[in-house]
Amino acid sequence: MVEKFRIGEITGLNISDALKVVEDLIDVYVKNLSEKENFLRTSKRTLLLPHCSRKFMDNKCQARFDPEVPSYYCAHCSSDCLIHQAITLAEKRGYDVYVIAGGSCIPKILKNYEGIVGVACCEEMKLGTDHLKSMNVAGQGVFLTKNGCANTRFNLDSLEKICEPLN
Ligand code: SF4
Ligand code: SF4
Repeated sequence: MVEKFRIGEITGLNISDALKVVEDLIDVYVKNLSEKENFLRTSKRTLLLPHCSRKFMDNKCQARFDPEVPSYYCAHCSSDCLIHQAITLAEKRGYDVYVIAGGSCIPKILKNYEGIVGVACCEEMKLGTDHLKSMNVAGQGVFLTKNGCANTRFNLDSLEKICEPLN
């Protein structure tokens, strides 16, 4: 599959790393499918977004950081910022949204919710999945399509499909 779809060529990864990416993608897809019904039964949901997808990673980003949560609160300074677009989409659908800097704060946030949609890279997605299992929260995941801890990207259409409306 890696060779057929030229995944190594497109991503610049060697074959074994590209294979790992495909395995991780399939793993998240299967988990999403198996948790879908439980997720749709939840009535209090949150969307967790990665801070690395903000348009600006320096003080040009106008978001306020609350260390108590901890979460960034977007000031919607740029209409082309992916975080602004994702928050706008999810809030209209009844989700509370947090923009987080890492997976360690997930248990603190999750204790207030029954369902979660998480956007993250492979490593953070695995950490998040472990938290979900231990807290009995139904989750759905969306992978970053561009990693690197800054200027990362995810697919807004995929997020839109996963973030089923609550209202
Ligand atoms: S739209 Fe929000 S997250 Fe994006 S750069 Fe502006 S304040 Fe930061
Ligand atoms: S790429 Fe992954 S580890 Fe890096 S900041 Fe983004 S979510 Fe966190």
